[in-house]
Amino acid sequence: MAADRASGNRKRAPRVQFEHVTKHYPTPGGQPVVALDDVSLQIAPGRITVLVGSSGSGKTTLLRCVNRMVTPTSGRVLIDDADVAGLDAVQLRRTIGYVMQESGLLPHRRVIDNIATVPRLNGTSRRDAHARGLELMDMVGLNRSLATRYPGELSGGQQQRVGVARALAVSPTLLLMDEPFGAVDPIVRADLQTELRALQADLAATIIFVTHDISEALILGDHVVILAESGRIAQQGSGIELVAQPADQFVASFLGLDAERGLRVCEVAGVPVVVDASGRPIGRLNEPGERAAR
Ligand code: ADP
Ligand code: MG
Repeated sequence: MAADRASGNRKRAPRVQFEHVTKHYPTPGGQPVVALDDVSLQIAPGRITVLVGSSGSGKTTLLRCVNRMVTPTSGRVLIDDADVAGLDAVQLRRTIGYVMQESGLLPHRRVIDNIATVPRLNGTSRRDAHARGLELMDMVGLNRSLATRYPGELSGGQQQRVGVARALAVSPTLLLMDEPFGAVDPIVRADLQTELRALQADLAATIIFVTHDISEALILGDHVVILAESGRIAQQGSGIELVAQPADQFVASFLGLDAERGLRVCEVAGVPVVVDASGRPIGRLNEPGERAAR
């Protein structure tokens, strides 16, 4: 992987397709939980697609169908043209970056060893994995002096950064992020969002980002998919399209267009900015094509 980067021979970011994906979880009571009901969705290569929906709408389940941590009851998931069901699950998880909802760091291992976990499993030497780990710490804005600490000795925001660095350690062209900035305060969260967008300008990975926070979705997403119950797609489009033309009352109220938050987009010095009802800026809107124009 390191060689890959060094030679400038970066792999192309894949497209991901969900085809009629249904997932039932059995319950002791009898009636299964329908976590996903016939979800079909295309994820464009090299962009940030945000899946946004309330708790229980099936976001985590949908994401985990990609790296085979969840097996659909029916339907399939394709990475480029390969059905993931036919790929080796362990290999898949060692090549796809995955940032978990709770940082998922190993508490008894130092930061640098957490970051280097998968490269070590993939056979990278300890020395190379650590050298790369330190570079990744730079990339995600972590001071190298934290490398020898244990996760419990870091702030919530720092732990999230370690989680992102660990996911990037496999040089992923596909990155799954499950509410990665959920547990941190709003200011740190805004920093992490800005940094992720800057990082993506270089990575150009296919990123599937899950959140329940609509402002985060509008700020980060090239493409935003609003999920209702059982992964039903209420609407999808660019943030601007959704705010300009919500498909129905559910979407409008999810966007906060009719509520006291009154989210809207306004232009400041030619930059589209998401503001709330009081005119307080929440963040820059991630406009489609913005990166291409840079
Ligand atoms: P989200 O990430 O949007 O909160 P999830 O994918 O975690 O949603 O869950 C979707 C639904 O499936 C919820 O009703 C949840 O309770 C249920 N569910 C998730 N995982 C399991 C599981 N392992 N066993 C039983 N039910 C589950
Ligand atoms: Mg979840």
